[in-house]
Amino acid sequence: MHWAVALAPLAVLFASIPAKAQEYFGRNKVQYESFPWKIIKSDHFDNFFYPAESLIVHDASRMAERWYSRHSETFRHAFDRKSLIFYADHPDFEQTNVIGQQLEEGTGGVTESNRTRVIMPFTGIYADNDHVLGHELVHVFQYNIAEGTPGGGLMRLDALPLWLIEGMAEYFSLGREDPLTAMWMRDAVMRNKFPTIKQLTMDPRFFPYRYGQALWAYVGGRWGDRTVVDIYRAALRLGWDAALVRVLGENSDSLSKDWAAANKAMYLPQIAGRTHPDSVGSKVIGLARSGDYNLAPTISPDGKLFAFFSSRNLFSIDLFVADAQTGKVIKKLGGPSSDPHFDAISFINSAGDWSPDGGKFAFVVYAEGNNEIAILDTKSTNVERRIKLPGIGSVSSVSWSPDGRTLALSGQAGGISDLYALDLEAGTIRQLTNDRFADIQPTWSPDGRVLAFSTDRGPQTDFNTLKFSPLQLATYDMATGRISVFSPFSRGKSINPQFSPDGQNVFFVSDQDGFPDIYRINIATSQAYRITKVATGVSGITTISPTMTVARKTGRMLFTTFYDQGHIVRGLDSTQTIGEPVGTVSVAWEGAQLPPPQFHRLFML
Ligand SMILES: [Zn+2]
Repeated sequence: MHWAVALAPLAVLFASIPAKAQEYFGRNKVQYESFPWKIIKSDHFDNFFYPAESLIVHDASRMAERWYSRHSETFRHAFDRKSLIFYADHPDFEQTNVIGQQLEEGTGGVTESNRTRVIMPFTGIYADNDHVLGHELVHVFQYNIAEGTPGGGLMRLDALPLWLIEGMAEYFSLGREDPLTAMWMRDAVMRNKFPTIKQLTMDPRFFPYRYGQALWAYVGGRWGDRTVVDIYRAALRLGWDAALVRVLGENSDSLSKDWAAANKAMYLPQIAGRTHPDSVGSKVIGLARSGDYNLAPTISPDGKLFAFFSSRNLFSIDLFVADAQTGKVIKKLGGPSSDPHFDAISFINSAGDWSPDGGKFAFVVYAEGNNEIAILDTKSTNVERRIKLPGIGSVSSVSWSPDGRTLALSGQAGGISDLYALDLEAGTIRQLTNDRFADIQPTWSPDGRVLAFSTDRGPQTDFNTLKFSPLQLATYDMATGRISVFSPFSRGKSINPQFSPDGQNVFFVSDQDGFPDIYRINIATSQAYRITKVATGVSGITTISPTMTVARKTGRMLFTTFYDQGHIVRGLDSTQTIGEPVGTVSVAWEGAQLPPPQFHRLFML
């Protein structure tokens, strides 16, 4: 058994595919590279790494010891040495022979049960590495406690529901302030589909990671985190429902009622003042089924077409092109089932880009144990060029320069993300940044002089104390290499920068009040403007997934909102993207709170 940190409900998506089809579509696991493993020993862990990861593994081993201290106190439990096996990037991780299972892009890490080893890739963002590590180490504690429980604890652990096991791993690694999980709960409350605990247990449509985290946040907030651990220990002996009664004195029905009531009380007033996710702007792509993915829209320079990744064909995530006004799907551009030369499209944290004349589309694929860039002719839909990137293990977003000669990209080498510029004619690559900071989602200014990108640079980030700023916006000057960080807000993330056609404004997505929404910042005045106020949020699968795109010539904007556990595409014309002025000091991170409500000093500002 392994537990994936599905950063997305992929487990659900693929679990709903019949086993035969899974076999048919499943890839054979191939090891393309051999990894010369080395070990760094820390107090409680053997940290396995290969030479490319030498810099980052020291930091990761310190994070692991920090989690050991926290979890050890929470669980009131200690263990002997365990192994942590680190891969530099996801394509390397997918080749692991430590476990037999196929690993998909949505699997962020694995804890294997035989020898309780953690296997995980670095993500390119330290805060995300820390989350994956914290999540997997909860599983190590869960396993270790189960092993010591008389009467077949490990077997009983296997029988516990995912909301209990995975929800606890999310709760003890992310906590009770979480914009993504709060967005999921608002969606359930808004549709009057808030599940009972029995439904979570029986019905795979309720993604156990998000609902489980929210349930444990409720239990921990009401009775204390020790109670969460007490329920887990009791569940290993009695089963989960009897454990609730034993520890809380409440059965699952009455706890379900209290939990749902607390969610309605917190979220209904929030939803009342906001726009329904299916009515903001105009409809472009709706949901065919609950939980459908329509992701990372990328609009053509003339604003007429857009490319996006979609699960509409049920068996795989494919790349489609559609009309940017009506959403009418014009054709399927590509996918692993139609092109045997690559294994999968990278769709969770990646977006492709159109060439300035709209004739070509560049996107990221998995092939032979690495990421490559595929360039497709948008008329013929043939992939006419594939570009390997020596030394770069994985690639997220790409951006085509206004003169058509260069692709800017965020690449990951040795576990660390940096910006690179790929000269398309010469086929040469130039590294633009070189440090441990996260550098993602580069996009060109209309004059081609500057890249805007998202990064954890800034005074809040300290590699000594391993504290990291939420992602902020920054610019990179192509001539001088100078980096300027601008934090539009005092709280939350700011991601997914897109220039306005005149280059005077940058559109971006921020959760400065806990709700992910679209904003605009005027570069000259630094004034920020709010463009959306969506009841759920403007979001892709993860909190950093690209979700919004602006046409270079017309300014038409497309974005994805979260609705019915899935993602739909909505649109705004440039006249609708002016927005209302908004202050830069965020009042409260209200939209990120999970019930029960915590005490806030709201009026101290
Ligand atoms: Zn897990």
